[in-house]
Amino acid sequence: MVLTQSIGKSGLQYLSESKEAFQSRSPNQELLPLTASVNSRDRLEIGGCEVTALVEQFGSPLYILDEETLRAACTQYRDAFKRYYPGSSQVLYASKAWSCLAVCAISASEGLGIDVVSAGEIHTALQAGVSPDKIYFHGNNKSREELQLAIESGCITVADNWHDLEILADLGKLGVSSKTGEPTRVMVRFTPGIECHTHDYIKTGQIDSKFGFDPGSLDDVFKFISQQPSLCCIGVHAHIGSQIFELQPHDDLADVIVETLTKALSYGLPATEINIGGGLGIRYTETDDPPSIEDWARTICTAVVAACERQQLPLPKLLCEPGRSLVGTACVTAYTVGSKKVIPGMRTYLAVDGGMSDNPRPITYQSVYRVVAAGKMRDSLTETVTIAGKHCESGDVLIKEAKLPECRAGDVLAVTATGAYNYSMSSNYNRVPRPAAVLVRDGKVDTILERETYQDLLRLDRLPERLGTQK
Ligand SMILES: *Cc1c(COP(=O)(O)O)cnc(C)c1O
Repeated sequence: MVLTQSIGKSGLQYLSESKEAFQSRSPNQELLPLTASVNSRDRLEIGGCEVTALVEQFGSPLYILDEETLRAACTQYRDAFKRYYPGSSQVLYASKAWSCLAVCAISASEGLGIDVVSAGEIHTALQAGVSPDKIYFHGNNKSREELQLAIESGCITVADNWHDLEILADLGKLGVSSKTGEPTRVMVRFTPGIECHTHDYIKTGQIDSKFGFDPGSLDDVFKFISQQPSLCCIGVHAHIGSQIFELQPHDDLADVIVETLTKALSYGLPATEINIGGGLGIRYTETDDPPSIEDWARTICTAVVAACERQQLPLPKLLCEPGRSLVGTACVTAYTVGSKKVIPGMRTYLAVDGGMSDNPRPITYQSVYRVVAAGKMRDSLTETVTIAGKHCESGDVLIKEAKLPECRAGDVLAVTATGAYNYSMSSNYNRVPRPAAVLVRDGKVDTILERETYQDLLRLDRLPERLGTQK
């Protein structure tokens, strides 16, 4: 990425130079959404909307999702797999990154399927109009009710362990099936034994993982499925982790997964799909340097084709399921600055009106974010401050050493790359209502998630009568 100004000068440092050709820029390599620009009033605009004006209209904190960036990421994944893979392919959106009706509907309208990990996410995808044929149900501890919902609504279940398989087989014996009555489609997830360099909490490929079958048990697994008339094993799945900047692990994965498909076929299973998971990283800071969506797709497609040639296998249908790299950099969170605490010679805290309840990633994974002052994008970055949240935890710090122009109460800050694992991990800690989310495009704005009200917070509360009369 080429920067318009050298690092450290102003908020403009986060803007890419080639505004026009943004369709060709890989969204996961940008710090700000592709449509981000600075207007003549020195204010940040996203999707043609001034961020400060959005905060005036909708309040803060506010998630601002740029439709064009999300669509560009979907298109780039879809087109790259078409371009580099001669067989059929399907990109799925790993909706745990941000599961809501609008994001599911947009990705589905771009031809993507959806990966879900709970009945709630299945429900959201179905309500968003996603075809159940393209819904893949994951999870390391699915309940019987969840599995039944997946079967009856016609979704594909990704069997993670024996518990899944035994319940699926049992439901089959009880006659539970989809409307068409066809056997339940399952994929088999296994741990491929591939390590990658990312945070321990988001690694999944290593053998010591709670997800997927141990490779040593796969013979028994395939044999078991082949004996179940109600189950149809359509393929195999592996996911090695998240926020990965290397291409080698996915290159290595191709061989392992094609080998596993061959094993499934040796049990007479009609397995024709492989899913290589998600995990492509995004740029949270200038020093993050993830490969582009296109390079990631090309590496995988090339490796799968080569592995199939080596193992003399017809090309299977190739699936992948990115989450973070589809939606991550499409969103910024706008906050309003409140209190300021100066500890002379030590640190200045600038507090905002949200924090760990709308973005739990810094306190959970020590994730690092960038921030700009949305109303003074051309001002020099003269201050180094710590952006604190409003929650009652000393660890509720969004950004440790943020470079900003001088800010005071009322200024609007925009924290970048908050589309993935922010809203979906948000909470009501301290009884703070969840923020609203808006979708912006060409100067138009739509609410996609209403701001929670105090009424919403009390919706599930019950006050036993004998307690309610106390004065
Ligand atoms: C989380 C997850 C993904 C998506 O990972 P990203 O890093 O967001 O791309 C894909 N597949 C599975 C099974 C996952 O658990």
